[in-house]
Amino acid sequence: MTSPSCEERLARLIRAVGPIPIAQFMAEANGAYYASRDPLGAAGDFVTAPEISQMFGELIGLWLADLWQQAGEEPACYVELGPGRGTLAADATRAMRAIGLQPAVHFVETSPALRAAQAERFANAAWHDDLSTLPAGKPLLLVANEFFDALPIRQFVRTVNGWRERMVAHGPDGFVPVPGEVPVDALVPDRLRDAPAGSILESAPMGTAIARDVAGRIAEQGGAAIIIDYGYAGRAAGDTFQAVHAHAYADPFARPGTRDLTAHVDFSAIRQAGEAEGVRVHGPVGQGAWLEAIGIGARTAALSRGSPTRAEEIEAARHRLTDAGEMGELFKVMAFVAPGWPEPAGFGAPPA
Ligand code: SAH
Repeated sequence: MTSPSCEERLARLIRAVGPIPIAQFMAEANGAYYASRDPLGAAGDFVTAPEISQMFGELIGLWLADLWQQAGEEPACYVELGPGRGTLAADATRAMRAIGLQPAVHFVETSPALRAAQAERFANAAWHDDLSTLPAGKPLLLVANEFFDALPIRQFVRTVNGWRERMVAHGPDGFVPVPGEVPVDALVPDRLRDAPAGSILESAPMGTAIARDVAGRIAEQGGAAIIIDYGYAGRAAGDTFQAVHAHAYADPFARPGTRDLTAHVDFSAIRQAGEAEGVRVHGPVGQGAWLEAIGIGARTAALSRGSPTRAEEIEAARHRLTDAGEMGELFKVMAFVAPGWPEPAGFGAPPA
């Protein structure tokens, strides 16, 4: 007997227990989605920055190596959360080697399919299901690119009867969002208490918990973290729950397990998590501004000189990564830096 699909399992669960929170739906769906495939690249569902150009991972590697060098070159670990195909890690660690940094490599990755892809590039990496088993006692040089957006979110919806958690029901039309039965007004900030019916508020408890874990370790062990994702800073953005399938937006409630479910990342929540754990928080700044500030211009020129026939392609990749109409502004960069570690490059003048 073949095992039931994610879709069947969720439909059965909802028949048995009633509507489930969006967070549970998203966690189950993404677990099944990532476990079963490599979603990255032209043949998959979406393309990420490291898959666009080697410059992305190289510049991140150099940014981390620069901090490490200025901090005194202690033995450190490279840690990546959700490393996908391992492309960013390969580019970053190659750039690090060029300036004398050869860190042990640790990957936090739950997908067996992507772990296998990562192992082809990193035979000697160590894999972790979550952050709890990462090494202690050494500085961490940590990267998370398009990781936080894949973590389950909760949604709250304002009904005429007050705020409710947004749940997922299943009926003749498939999976549909419905308001839960329990009032949750106490979870909503005062200023939103009387928002118009239909208003939606999101929170990302798992992302916040992971950001706190990362920051706590960096405060304790030393090092720095760089978090890159699409998202917003400041006021909540409403409903950002979305699905991407074959490079197009799709209904996030349809066909769970077959498409990538994401939400925009709330960088103000990540900042608060960092500050609560005692790291210095920089950003968010736009990915375009950050890459320009740390030298993507010079890197583009050097690569083009090395392969003149590819100059146009290299310049097009830079444009895609940095232009405001492409990834340059929607994608944002935030850094956590350990107390006593130097000022990181790319975030403007240090605060007075
Ligand atoms: N960083 C890569 C891949 C982004 S896709 C890139 O930029 O190309 C999201 C990655 O996070 C995948 O590797 C996925 O398997 C992993 N992932 C998603 N949820 C996770 C979780 N809860 N714990 C660990 N890894 C997770």
